[in-house]
Amino acid sequence: MNPIRPRPLAAIRGWGAAVLDFVYPPLCMICRNRLSAAEHTVCDACRTRLDLRPQWRCQICGGAGIGGEPRPGRPCRLCPPAGAAWRGVFSVVGYGTLPARCVHMFKYQRRIELGRVMARLICERLAGPIGALAGRIDVIAPVPLHWARRMGRGFNQSTLLARPLASALGLPMNPRLLRRVRYTRRQALLPREQRGDNIRGAFGLGSRAGLDGLGVLLIDDVVTSGATIDECARTLMSAGAREVWAASYARAGMGGPEPEE
Ligand SMILES: [Zn+2]
Ligand SMILES: [Zn+2]
Repeated sequence: MNPIRPRPLAAIRGWGAAVLDFVYPPLCMICRNRLSAAEHTVCDACRTRLDLRPQWRCQICGGAGIGGEPRPGRPCRLCPPAGAAWRGVFSVVGYGTLPARCVHMFKYQRRIELGRVMARLICERLAGPIGALAGRIDVIAPVPLHWARRMGRGFNQSTLLARPLASALGLPMNPRLLRRVRYTRRQALLPREQRGDNIRGAFGLGSRAGLDGLGVLLIDDVVTSGATIDECARTLMSAGAREVWAASYARAGMGGPEPEE
């Protein structure tokens, strides 16, 4: 076969795409401004606001933020409270207006491309700091959805965010480590003080596979009060896990240029 044989179909497809781009120029999925040839899915201006680049990262919990840097060796404002079952949460950006809109469009309007943007940011910003835990994480587990909610949505957003990070870290991902045994109201719709009660008893083990002595990294799209992470961590620790960490795309309390919700 001649390797430089022309490929007429590919040429027509390329030409067709160029005409479509001319008639319907690709727009930023968030601000609807026209994208340049070098931009994909979101424009550079929006991408910058979806990515915090924190001023500090806590040596104890991996939390990061803008302003309010902790003194060396002291807990930061994002460190787990006394009695928490989790060790720390690594996140890309504060839960400001634009990250919240991006997460909302991904989950509720099924804009999978925005999930890819977030997954890429998670890999770029968090693979290094999480990798520095050196051997303390053995398995990655997305926070599970109740099967009815997963069927309604068509996917679990946390699994889509977890997969690229697992391959970047070279760690196994097990989406069935935990399962949601109780249907709960959406945490985001409840006041902070009711979230612990809403989520209590919501998780069970997905399999009897031994967790003895394993370090687990949970993945969620957003962490706000930490109630969901804590409940998952309690379930894993009671099954013999050694320690539980978490990573999310957005997290309330990191601060940044936009007001947090
Ligand atoms: Zn934009
Ligand atoms: Zn901390």
